[in-house]
Amino acid sequence: METASAVVGLKRGDRVGIGWQGRSCGKCEWCLKGETQLCMEIEKTTVMVPYGGFSSSVVADHRFVHPLPPTMPSQVAAALMCAGVTVYSALRTYVTSPELKVAILGVGGLGHLAIQFAHAFGCEVTAISSSPAKKEQALGFGADRFINSLDRDSMRQVNYGHDLLICTANDGINWEAQLMALKKRGRLVLLGFPDIKLNSTDLVAHELSITGSLIGNPTMMRAMLSFAQEHGITPVVELMPMSQVNEAIQKVKENKARYRIVLVNETADIEA
Ligand SMILES: [Zn+2]
Repeated sequence: METASAVVGLKRGDRVGIGWQGRSCGKCEWCLKGETQLCMEIEKTTVMVPYGGFSSSVVADHRFVHPLPPTMPSQVAAALMCAGVTVYSALRTYVTSPELKVAILGVGGLGHLAIQFAHAFGCEVTAISSSPAKKEQALGFGADRFINSLDRDSMRQVNYGHDLLICTANDGINWEAQLMALKKRGRLVLLGFPDIKLNSTDLVAHELSITGSLIGNPTMMRAMLSFAQEHGITPVVELMPMSQVNEAIQKVKENKARYRIVLVNETADIEA
C-alpha cells in the first residue's frame, strides 16, 4: 500500500483491507455523524475505479482502509469485511444484552458468520434454514439448536421464542411463520434483499418492528476485525483464482458456494 502525505495511522507497505465501501461524500448529515454507510451520495461514491473489487490496485479514501490483524489470513479478512461487518453491525446494534434470544434465518455466507458472532456475544442462538443438511455445521458454528424452516411443526415449537430474528435469506421465506418465531415487541432485521409480503395483523398485534441494516461504518469495521480475531470467528471460504471468476459467479448463482468464495489475484501473496 502507498499513502498520500495527509494520511495518518497507515504507512507504506501496511497490509490493509477495504470493504464494500471505499469512500463517502464526507459532507452529508450521515457522514458527519460517522454513519457513512448511509451517505446520501453512496451510489456515486462507493465504486472503486476502474474495476471495483476486481481491480489489482485501487485508490481509496483512507477512512475506509483498515489495517488487518497481523495473524489474520487475507482470505479470512476478505469475507469478514463484507459478510462479517454486515452481521456484526446488526448484532452490535440490536443485541442489547446477552440474555436476548437470537434466531438466524438462513445458513449461508452471512448466516454462518451471524451464528458465530451471536454465539460469541453470549446469546442463545437458533439457526433456521430450509436445508436440513446444514444442521451439523450450524451447530458447529455455535447454534444452540437448528430448525428446519419447511417443517411447520418444528417452527411452531419456537413460536414467541426470540427477541431478534436476523434474516440473511433472500427467497422462499414464509413470513407468517417467521414472524411467529418472534416474541411480542420482537425485531426482524433484514440483511439481504428479500421480497416481503405479509399480513399486518401479527405485526400490529404483537407490536413487532422490521428494520434493514446495511454493511457497517468504519468504526464498526475495526471493532468487528478485532472482535473476530479475539473470538476466533472464522468464515468458511473457498479460494478460486481470479481467472475463474465466471465459474465462481455461476457457483454462487447455483447456491453451491460454501460459504463464501474468495477470488485470488494470481499475483497476490495469499495463504492457501
Ligand atoms: Zn455523505
